[in-house]
Amino acid sequence: MAKASIGIIGGSGLYRIEGIKVIEEVTVKTPWGYPSDSLVIAEIGGVSTAFLPRHGKGHVFLPHEINYRANIAALKMVGVEKIVAFSAVGSLKEEIHPLDFVLPSQVIDRTRGRVSSFFGGGIAAHVGFADPFCGPLGGIIASAAAEEGLKLHTGETLICMEGPAFSSRAESMLYRSWGAGVINMSTLPEAKLAREAEMCYSVVCMSTDYDCWKVDEEHVSVEMVVANLNKNAANARALIKAIVPRAAGIGHCSCNEASRYAVITAKERWDKKQAKRLHSILPEYF
Ligand SMILES: [Zn+2]
Repeated sequence: MAKASIGIIGGSGLYRIEGIKVIEEVTVKTPWGYPSDSLVIAEIGGVSTAFLPRHGKGHVFLPHEINYRANIAALKMVGVEKIVAFSAVGSLKEEIHPLDFVLPSQVIDRTRGRVSSFFGGGIAAHVGFADPFCGPLGGIIASAAAEEGLKLHTGETLICMEGPAFSSRAESMLYRSWGAGVINMSTLPEAKLAREAEMCYSVVCMSTDYDCWKVDEEHVSVEMVVANLNKNAANARALIKAIVPRAAGIGHCSCNEASRYAVITAKERWDKKQAKRLHSILPEYF
């Protein structure tokens, strides 16, 4: 099976990357089941990269139906150390226009009942998540965007809501009052699981609409989201090609030790089956 060091998770509108040299398409079975689709292992700028469409090809999974654990585990199992995720988002701020890119530095979890950890089931662990996204990877993304001449907002807070219906206006206004910049439905638990699996993770958000808070704008609809994503697809592809070779150059990072001291269960009490599952993503510890 081909290996890859960089993972790209494509969101709505980004189901494949045109113009790349595909090495192999691999189906990965993880202890948590199958990911949303097969992984496309391709070479981008001389770097082996694994691409996974988060919602599956043809967009078959709602955000709450995605097997996030299998997605992250599958990437880890083919050797991925750094994940650059893409996501379509609504803008909660006037200055974040549709078609702008946003690199959030914080996230607020408004999802409900999603499985958000590889741990549990007899092995308890808690990882740090104060800074949800990888700093060095974010720096690389910002410099790649600047080189491509793309507008990128940084330092914003992302709201990850449950969905699948879009926000009510009261919710949209509430999130604005919290100072949040963008809203989506799929960064969590993805980012938390990547942290537990000790992978660097950053999300590039593509603004498609003004959610529903802006009274003089047409409210968000799937039609509007898809139209703007298609307009932005070429920019997203250019950004990916600029990010990957740079990301491959990042050295060891604190993300890569996130679970080292996270386990609190006494080793002699570990559930053996759970330890075996965890071995597939964290072989150094389990
Ligand atoms: Zn990192």
